[in-house]
Amino acid sequence: MRKNEHRVVVVGAGYAGMLAAVRLAHRTRRTGVRITVVNASARFTERLRMHQVAAGQELADIRIPDVLAGSGVTFVQGTVTGIDPDTNTVTVEGAPPLGYDTLVYALGSSTDTSRVPGAEAHAFTLNGPQLAARFAARLREVAAAGGAVTVCGGGLTGVEAATEIAENHPGLAVTLLSLDEPGGMMGPKARAYLYRTMARLGVTVKAGKPVTKVLPDAVELAGGELVASDLCLWTTGVRVSPLAADAGIAVDERGLIVVDATLRSVSHPNIHAIGDAAAIRLAWGQIHGTCQSGMPTAQYTADTIARLLRGKPVPPFRFGYFHQPVSLGRRDAVIQFTRADDTPRRAYLKGRAAVIYKELVSSSPPKMHRLSKRMNVSATLSKGGRVTRQPAA
Ligand SMILES: Cc1cc2nc3c(=O)[nH]c(=O)nc-3n(C[C@H](O)[C@H](O)[C@H](O)COP(=O)(O)OP(=O)(O)OC[C@H]3O[C@@H](n4cnc5c(N)ncnc54)[C@H](O)[C@@H]3O)c2cc1C
Repeated sequence: MRKNEHRVVVVGAGYAGMLAAVRLAHRTRRTGVRITVVNASARFTERLRMHQVAAGQELADIRIPDVLAGSGVTFVQGTVTGIDPDTNTVTVEGAPPLGYDTLVYALGSSTDTSRVPGAEAHAFTLNGPQLAARFAARLREVAAAGGAVTVCGGGLTGVEAATEIAENHPGLAVTLLSLDEPGGMMGPKARAYLYRTMARLGVTVKAGKPVTKVLPDAVELAGGELVASDLCLWTTGVRVSPLAADAGIAVDERGLIVVDATLRSVSHPNIHAIGDAAAIRLAWGQIHGTCQSGMPTAQYTADTIARLLRGKPVPPFRFGYFHQPVSLGRRDAVIQFTRADDTPRRAYLKGRAAVIYKELVSSSPPKMHRLSKRMNVSATLSKGGRVTRQPAA
């Protein structure tokens, strides 16, 4: 290590961690900053496309070392097993411990199957490409046998998964089970389009009752109704890694790292939390984990660390939602444009234009990762306008 070298360790190379690492490397290329990224797999997980894998499609094989090539960032493949904020050390399974001066915590989130009996044992999730591919293999068998598939959770991930599955396997009985009305956060026109498309693709929607149990061949709803299910995909509920809480870093009731206005841990200011793993409150409310918000948190944090290293003041983080892009299979989509707090505006896109828009959204993070090695491109569509503007000090 060079004298005075500042060590930055980024844990998690998903959408947020990867952008933070490459952007910071570009921003600090003439200074003594050594950046190391740790990720469980060497393949970059395109979570935005996991429902495509579940439906049987293959994705491009994006290798993290290839993305990082030429950036100066060191990649360590391994599972992070512990963080010690007293000694500023990260432990990685199968690799030597990593010391840091600044830690960027970007371990994301996953779908929580622990809350409903039987979900852990009998339902699949989209928590990674291997699981999604296993679901796809089972789906082929169920489709060949003329069976029934249930998708639990009527959020945007559930809608995308149900429509993708139905489009890829016409004739298969696909039921979307949801406590709330799917697309409830959209405006009436976009929601109506969503329902028309689901009906066209043959997706049955059952909303209003919570799932109480997942069985090997059925899903039970409150009141005891059984919905036939040879294969169940669980998409609702989110959990985060317990690593932050275990390390004594201040977390909220869900385990997300509580951050200040500059996205630094309120208990450990040399830890910056980004993406799904951070509890971020803004003037309009709390960010809910999306790639749309995760990328701006990464961009901001890279810039913040670069500024702090140069002794410059740091403006507070600003962000507002801009859209809810929803694929409905490969040939249809609907995009609801939103206000900063994610409530719907009147404008929306549907059909072919929406398909092109959605594909642009899904394909842009990997492009942005590569571009950010050479230039400062912005991943922030909206800073939230007047709502997040701070009064002059
Ligand atoms: C099917 C699906 C569709 C979605 N569609 C959209 C959409 O259209 N728009 C949108 O904005 N959002 C969407 N999301 C949400 C979006 O994917 C997440 O908000 C986003 O991935 C969060 O980025 P992140 O970098 O915080 O976490 P992630 O992308 O999850 O990255 C976390 C990384 O950390 C690694 N990791 C975790 N634990 C460890 C450990 N202990 N050791 C080492 N590495 C570890 C993981 O392997 C992963 O690479 C979708 C999610 C799903 C599942």
